[in-house]
Amino acid sequence: MSLPGFSTLAIHAGQKPDPTTGAVNVPIYATSTYVQEEIGVHKGYEYSRVSNPTRTPLEECLAALERGHSSHVFASGMAAIQAILMRLSAGDHVVCGSNVYGGTPRLFNQVLTRFGLRFSYADTRDLAMVEAAITPATKLVFVETPTNPLMELCDLRALAELTHRHDAELAVDNTFMSPYFQRPLELGADLVMHSTTKFLNGHSDGLGGVVVASTAKQAEDFRFLQKSVGAILSPFECFLILRGVKTLGVRMRQHDANGRRMAAFLAVHPKVKAIYYPGLPQHPQHELAKRQMSGFGAMITIETGSLERANQVLRAVRVCSLAESLGGVETLISHPASMTHAALGAEGRAKIGLTDGMVRLSVGIEDIEDLERDMDQALAAIK
Ligand SMILES: *Cc1c(COP(=O)(O)O)cnc(C)c1O
Repeated sequence: MSLPGFSTLAIHAGQKPDPTTGAVNVPIYATSTYVQEEIGVHKGYEYSRVSNPTRTPLEECLAALERGHSSHVFASGMAAIQAILMRLSAGDHVVCGSNVYGGTPRLFNQVLTRFGLRFSYADTRDLAMVEAAITPATKLVFVETPTNPLMELCDLRALAELTHRHDAELAVDNTFMSPYFQRPLELGADLVMHSTTKFLNGHSDGLGGVVVASTAKQAEDFRFLQKSVGAILSPFECFLILRGVKTLGVRMRQHDANGRRMAAFLAVHPKVKAIYYPGLPQHPQHELAKRQMSGFGAMITIETGSLERANQVLRAVRVCSLAESLGGVETLISHPASMTHAALGAEGRAKIGLTDGMVRLSVGIEDIEDLERDMDQALAAIK
């Protein structure tokens, strides 16, 4: 029997109508504990830090969408990344992409180094640079593709092969693509994580994170960490993501269609000095994008030329909202240097090629004509 299609899984995997009432949606089980008939006799739930009947269907659904062994949800994307790192021990070394979500190096450098973990950063477009950064103590390679906000890609199949040759695991932050457009486990990665706050939830109304495991051993580790550390996702947030993920397929198709239209519009706009979008033929890794992803998504970065010009655009937008975050139905526009990548510092940003003039769009699913008109009038505000 062939596996059901993506949207069928998104709507049904792990989710059965409620046996007591027939409710088609998984209820929010707002309970901390569960009654037991006698010592050790219960219905599989004992305490909600360990497991909860709103969380279980979500974890089964997300595992199915990423073709993983299991998935484990956490209170935020950062908590999910922390859980991945908590499987390591003092003295272990990690190679991280040099161009990732700003919060990731902040966690690594300012928190986890104090516990004896060690980190190196490499441009993951270049496998030789990754290999040069690997040491005998390297246990994990952690990457994003496409990267935030420069939309650089890394070849996941080749990177997985390289990582395994050095007896390390490859973890991929798949937040930008969602499992609808990219499934790293199928390309050989060992772990996938998402900030579910973004496309998976899709409605900018709840935070969350997920780690998708590929083996039973990893699953055991993450269940133990959920129980022992306690950074789990609340039943209400689990419900929001279950609700959001049902429309992931249709949303991603529209995000992608709008993203392509917007990128084509901005690419030839006289006020745009450079554009970063893997769906454009001039993107240096366009061929890899076509091979590794089944769509190009909604994340576009443009170069306006200076901080002042970026601010002129950001002040002038009317339909797009100036805000951090991404992946919701509404178009968000942001300034990476002062927002998501502020923690890197000017020097850190310069090192990865992130300028003060860059503006990042998360193209929503509004009518594209309105978005184009809005960006056109906002770019016209550049003096
Ligand atoms: C937002 C984001 C995170 C962090 O997730 P939170 O849910 O905000 O904790 C990690 N990686 C990427 C790519 C993100 O966009």
